[in-house]
Amino acid sequence: MRVLYVTSECYPMVKTGGLADVSAALPPALNAAGADVRLLLPGYPAVLNGLSNLHEVGELITDLPGCDRARLRIGRTADGVLAYALDAPSLYDRPGNPYLGPDGQDWPDNALRFAALAWAAAGFASDDSYDPWWRPDVLHGHDWQAGLIPAYLELRPDRFAGAVRPGTVLTIHNIAYQGNFGPWMLGDLGLPSSSFRIDGVEYYGNVSFLKAGCYYADRLTTVSPTYANEIQTAEHGTGLQGLLATRSDVLTGILNGVDYAVWDPATDPHIPARYTPDDLGGKDACKADLQSAFGLDRRPDAPLAAVVSRLTWHKGLDLVLEAAAQWIAWGGQLVVLGSGDPASEAGFRHLAQWHPQSVGVRIGYDEPLSHRIQAGADLFLVPSRSEPCGLTQLYALKYGTLPLVRRTGGLADTVIDANPAASADGSATGFQFVNATGQELVWALRRALTVYRKPERWQAMQRRAMTRDFGWHGPAEEYMELYRGLGR
Ligand code: ADP
Repeated sequence: MRVLYVTSECYPMVKTGGLADVSAALPPALNAAGADVRLLLPGYPAVLNGLSNLHEVGELITDLPGCDRARLRIGRTADGVLAYALDAPSLYDRPGNPYLGPDGQDWPDNALRFAALAWAAAGFASDDSYDPWWRPDVLHGHDWQAGLIPAYLELRPDRFAGAVRPGTVLTIHNIAYQGNFGPWMLGDLGLPSSSFRIDGVEYYGNVSFLKAGCYYADRLTTVSPTYANEIQTAEHGTGLQGLLATRSDVLTGILNGVDYAVWDPATDPHIPARYTPDDLGGKDACKADLQSAFGLDRRPDAPLAAVVSRLTWHKGLDLVLEAAAQWIAWGGQLVVLGSGDPASEAGFRHLAQWHPQSVGVRIGYDEPLSHRIQAGADLFLVPSRSEPCGLTQLYALKYGTLPLVRRTGGLADTVIDANPAASADGSATGFQFVNATGQELVWALRRALTVYRKPERWQAMQRRAMTRDFGWHGPAEEYMELYRGLGR
């Protein structure tokens, strides 16, 4: 089973969120499950520098303005996965964030930048493909950046017709990001005007890459079973719920996994002391280290809650700001690592200024520090309004840092609330709350505190959380099943 895995991010070369972690870990897991997966990535500087043994395999000729010619190179990721890089300097040779310019705004040519990626992927389907020895059976695109792949196959048979059409899969990692562009882009994107309709690429008067993918892909997946249901509702579907409901027979939710080679307190090189479910001793040293790093009182008995997140509205961190005063009054501490909305950043900065012994805030992106936080905290807060899967709560489980989450998307699927039934049958691994209000978060914090004050019960939950298996093996098998179902 040959699979071209098309993604705009891959850790550690380029990462803005969970997609990068998934793109790094799932392809090797699929290869271990018997697939032959290759990546296709935009040739950002970090990608061209990050792949080893890079050499040219073909040339891409498109109808897209500004990208009539580009080079396709192939190299290997650090994990040994073969990866194609679309080397188009006019589109990708830019520093920093893959989507935003230095002014923090989307690059004005993002439509063309990711149309080119989809065009390159669709090129693997044509008879004069780049590599006659490696023709993919499946084109598996991720998020809106890959949304046009199935649209090109369907709408441009003049360019992409091959003797055998590969199957197409689109995975929605977050439906909130859709790649919507003005209708005047249609021609530049190489899409026929006849496709600008509700049964096509049109979405509320714009061209939508994600809508196009949802409409034309053979199979749709998203990253948790609960989110697969949620995106078919008005609350979470962002206008695509109707289309997704009509496609529910080909839409599945497959949970993301964790790369335990990177996230394991028994081996993590970023943390000051290592620990296991059988010997939690090292976690105390990690907590003391974290309190020092953030200038907090070094009180071993203070319950320490943590956040590592993009600071955006859907992450629900305004609820943490609302609940913080009560948490601090109960003797709790809080560390926050994140960046995003200026108002949210300012809110957390002020909180830390007012409560320097109890609250520590680092605005920015810091991968090693995120590991130290996972190891050093007691409680990990993920109060998201929506969360397709969420990875940080899975890392927290592994680090024995009990997750306290809002019951939505993958958070609902992966954290078992310490309600009376789950506490009685010994299955609880964390805490959930339902409504996105500060008051409900406070109540959930109160419940967590009650357990925290009973060390034996808390440690039993920690051990259980740490031994839950969210590795990639199971999800990889589910994707294999899906690929096989395409019958290619
Ligand atoms: P999303 O993809 O919506 O951002 P996920 O929970 O799926 O949310 O993935 C977030 C990933 O980004 C995790 O690996 C998390 O540790 C990491 N992350 C988020 N913010 C930061 C930060 N400020 N510094 C370091 N890592 C971060």
